Amino acid sequence: MIRTVVAVVAVLFALAAAAPAQTLAPNELGRVMILEYHKIDYPEERWTRTPENFRRDLETLYARGYRLIALNDLLDGRISVPAGTTPVVLTFDDSSPGQFRYVERDGRVEIDPKSGIGVLEAFIRERPDFGRAATFYVLPGASRPNKLFNQDEYAGKKLQYLVTNGYEIGNHTLWHANLGKYEEPTVRGQIAEAQVWIQRHVPDYRPRTLALPHGVYPKDVTWAVRGTAKGASYQHDAILMVAGGAAPSPFSRNFDALHLPRIQAVEHDLAYWLGYFEKHPGERFVSDGDPAAVTVQGVQRDRLRSPLPRSLRVVER
Ligand SMILES: [Zn+2]
Repeated sequence: MIRTVVAVVAVLFALAAAAPAQTLAPNELGRVMILEYHKIDYPEERWTRTPENFRRDLETLYARGYRLIALNDLLDGRISVPAGTTPVVLTFDDSSPGQFRYVERDGRVEIDPKSGIGVLEAFIRERPDFGRAATFYVLPGASRPNKLFNQDEYAGKKLQYLVTNGYEIGNHTLWHANLGKYEEPTVRGQIAEAQVWIQRHVPDYRPRTLALPHGVYPKDVTWAVRGTAKGASYQHDAILMVAGGAAPSPFSRNFDALHLPRIQAVEHDLAYWLGYFEKHPGERFVSDGDPAAVTVQGVQRDRLRSPLPRSLRVVER
């Protein structure tokens, strides 16, 4: 009897957790959260999320029908999360040690389960349908402890692990330069040199996005978009800010890839935005499950960006 009650309760909980994914109608002009993590470490602070709280964030997102998508796929309008779910992007700034740490155990090198990537990988193993994606805005030339996750001997192994396991590396300048303070050659040098250092470890990898240190733009935004310096050419398809709330849909005419807003993944801001989309479900991006189709409410058709990629067709509901 007790066992039956437990089983029934478990099923009810499972249904409750799955409910948002079942009931939300497609709305691909809704907004998308790009979450911004800094340290994964102890204790919980303004710029630090503990491994346990990070794990709880993932559980909450999953239960409320959010699924991971790579930032580059969002930029390309390639939304391949299941129907009825909402894409969410994870970003990690500053390559601090707790984001990605290797530990030696019994003579073997393994990912620290208490580091950000360890927590994320463990969760994905339990919930493979959550997706696998995150972008790491690393600092190849910073002083300790932010230089490429602070384990020199594993720096290359980590960057290679990221790009071969579905993650992305983004440009965050060489050592977190405030780009508003410098003239063009320094700005371009900071960006180009960061890419050169990344490519020493992953030779063919091209970072497609730049996260602005301190959220500060250079005097001319085009310096950050593309150019050549230090013997390297760079080109960015998006520039990320440090705040600004949920991003417009990549199909919306309000989508501005050079001014992409993010939500800082701290207790208050996360709770605010999760609550916001509960209260305003019509503003939430909900996938139709078909990467080739953009499903919109008919009356909102004029909010679509023009032109859309040619491979996409618009479906009105
Ligand atoms: Zn930063």
